[in-house]
Amino acid sequence: MSSVASAGIAKRLHALDLPVRHADDMFIDGTWVRAESLERRSVIDPATAQEWGSVPVGDRADLDAAVGSARQAFDRGPWPRLTPSERAAVLRRAADRLELLAEPISLTNTLENGTPVADSGGAAANAASIFRYFASIAPLLESDDVRPAPSGTHETVVRRDPVGVCALIAPWNFPINLVVVKLAPALLAGCTVVIKPASLTPLSVRFIIQALTEAGIPDGVVNLVTGSGSLGDELVRHPGIDKVAFTGSTEVGRSIARQCGELLRPVTLELGGKSSAIVLPDADMATLRAVLIRSSLRNTGQTCYISTRILVPDARHDEVVDAIVQTVGAAVQGDPLDPATVFGPMASAAQRSSVLAHIASAREQGAQVALGGSAATLPAPFDAGYFVEPTVLTRVTPEMDVAREEIFGPVLTVLRYSEVDEAIAMTNATEFGLGGIVFGADTREALRVADRVDSGSVGINFFASNHAAPFGGRRDSGLGVEYGPEGLHAYLTYKSIHRRASTTGRDPA
Ligand code: NDP
Repeated sequence: MSSVASAGIAKRLHALDLPVRHADDMFIDGTWVRAESLERRSVIDPATAQEWGSVPVGDRADLDAAVGSARQAFDRGPWPRLTPSERAAVLRRAADRLELLAEPISLTNTLENGTPVADSGGAAANAASIFRYFASIAPLLESDDVRPAPSGTHETVVRRDPVGVCALIAPWNFPINLVVVKLAPALLAGCTVVIKPASLTPLSVRFIIQALTEAGIPDGVVNLVTGSGSLGDELVRHPGIDKVAFTGSTEVGRSIARQCGELLRPVTLELGGKSSAIVLPDADMATLRAVLIRSSLRNTGQTCYISTRILVPDARHDEVVDAIVQTVGAAVQGDPLDPATVFGPMASAAQRSSVLAHIASAREQGAQVALGGSAATLPAPFDAGYFVEPTVLTRVTPEMDVAREEIFGPVLTVLRYSEVDEAIAMTNATEFGLGGIVFGADTREALRVADRVDSGSVGINFFASNHAAPFGGRRDSGLGVEYGPEGLHAYLTYKSIHRRASTTGRDPA
C-alpha cells in the first residue's frame, strides 16, 4: 500500500493546482460567464470523502441563457451552414487539442468519480478517436442522395438536415466519453448543443469545451450548464430544445421518455444493464481470466454494459468460481490515482450504500459470499473513502434481486446452468438488453449462442465497443443507438424534395 499511496498523493497534491477546481461560471455563447445562480455544490473526491472542487448549481436564468445561445447559433449562426467537411475539420482539431489535455482530464475525472487512472488515463485519447471517427464519416452527409421514384415519373432529392438544438445529459461514470459520444455526431450533423453533466462530475467536461474553443468552434454552438437533476428535467422540457440525448438510470430515462413523448421530441436513451457472461462448456479459463475485470467489473463495476452475471455450466462450476475469485482477489484496490490500482472507490456515499444494500439482500435471499462482501477499510487518507470490497456471490438464482437489478458496483454473481439453452433463457429473462459475452473455445458455436442473446451488443471471448458500430440497448436498456452512422442519424432530420426526373444529372435543388 505504501507505493500505492505515495504515487497517488503526489498526484493529489498536483491536482490542487488545476485551474478548473473551483468554478463559478458556465460556458454560454462562446465565453465562460458567471452563473446567475449563487447556489454552489461541492465536488467530493470519493477516495478521501474530502471536498476537492465546486461548481455553481444553475437555475432557470442560466438555462434560458444557454438554450437561447444554442438556439441563436442554430437559427442564425454559421455552424449548420458550413459543409460537413468544414465541420469535420473542427472536430479533428478538437481531437488534437484533447490529446494534449490527457493528463488534467484524467486527474480531474479520477478526483470527481474515483475511476482508476489506469482507465481515466485513456479518456482523452478515446474522446479524440470518437471525434475523429465522426469526422471520417462526413462524406456520408456530403454525397447527393437522389432516388428515382419506382413509378418512373419523378425523382426525389433526400436532404439530411441537422435536427436542431440538442440537450445532452450525461451521467457520472464516464463523464468525458458519455458526453463526446453524443457531442461528436451532433456537431458533425450541424446541431448546436447544451450539455448538462452529472452533479458528481461537473468539472472534467470543461476540458472538452476548452478543446473545442481552441479548435475554433463558433460562439453559441456548444454550451455548458451545471446543476441538479431538476435542471436536467427543465432542460428536457425547455421550448428551445429540439432533441434530447441521455445516458443514465432507467428510472430517469423513463421520465425523460414521458416528457419527450408528450412534446413529440426525438430522444435517445442509453440506460441501465444487467448483462450476462455465458461460459460455454468448452470455455478457456485463461481467456476468461484475462478479460474478466475489463468486461465484467470495469470502473469498479460502475459501467452500464458490463457482464456481471456469470452463467456457469454445472460440470465446471467450482473451477470457474476458483478462476473468478483468484482473478478478482488478486486485483489491487486502493488509491485510484495510483496507476497500479484496479478497483477504486464507489463514486459517492449513496452509491456505496446502494451496493452494500444489494449485497445484504443477496445474503438474505440465500446467496453465498465467495469473496469480499463488505465495505472496504483502507488506511488514511482513504479511511473515509467510499470503498466496497470486490465481491463474488455464488448460489445465486435468477429470481434473486441481485440477479435481476443493476448493482453498479464491484459485485459479480455466479449462476449455474445445466444446458446451454437454459443459459440463453436466463440471459434473456432480465428486463435489460444492453451487453453480454459468450466465452467458448469453438468460436462458431459461440457466435451461434451470441446470435440468440437478446441485447444490443454481445462480445465473443471479450467485450469492447467499436466507434463504427451501433451501441444501444433493448427493452429497459434504452431507445435508439449511439456510435456508427446509425448514431449520426439520431441528430438528423430528413426532407424529400420531389422533382421531375433530371436530364442533366446535375442536382438543381
Ligand atoms: P441518474 O439517471 O439520476 O442521472 C443521470 C443524469 O441525469 C445526471 O446528469 C442527472 O443529474 C440527470 N437527471 C437526474 N434526474 C433527471 C431528470 N428528471 N430529468 C433530466 N435529467 C435528470 O443517475 P444516478 O446518478 O442517480 O445513478 C443512479 C443509478 O443509475 C446508478 O446506481 C446506476 O444503477 C444507474 N446508472 C446507469 C448509468 C449507465 O451508464 N447506464 C450511468 C449512471 C447511473 P444529477 O447528477 O444532477 O442528478
